[in-house]
Amino acid sequence: MDCIFCKIAAGVIPSNKVYEDELCLAFYDIAPQAPVHVLVIPKTHIASADEISADNSALVAHIFEVIPKVAASAGITNGYRVITNCGEDACQSVKHLHFHILGGAHLSEQMAQDGTWIFRSSPDGEGSV
Ligand code: 5GP
Ligand code: ZN
Repeated sequence: MDCIFCKIAAGVIPSNKVYEDELCLAFYDIAPQAPVHVLVIPKTHIASADEISADNSALVAHIFEVIPKVAASAGITNGYRVITNCGEDACQSVKHLHFHILGGAHLSEQMAQDGTWIFRSSPDGEGSV
């Protein structure tokens, strides 16, 4: 298994979990880019949003049903962003589908300060919670 998020889903690499069920896992990003930064992943390997098809879209729909619970569990009470980076030009660094949940009290101030709504991902961190 060569995929870091497959390893996290399998528990081979530890993560700081927010939510888990049989189909998906949510855990805190190792390098938070917002006051609250959680990743939601399918437990099965899907490389990116570009690989979503009729065969796996029910799983993606499930993830979107779970996202409000994840946001609430992470203490987000006043809105959040859901982002997925797909492919080279979007700087996708982990090639396993994941949705960034970005929220927290000062997110809107941070976005205003940055002068952009664009989410810039951070470099890979490996093997840490
Ligand atoms: P991408 O750049 O692919 O959209 O986002 C990948 C995200 O995964 C980054 O925000 C990065 O900080 C996070 N990440 C990479 N490796 C690990 C890890 O081992 N543990 C956790 N919790 N997050 C990770
Ligand atoms: Zn994977």
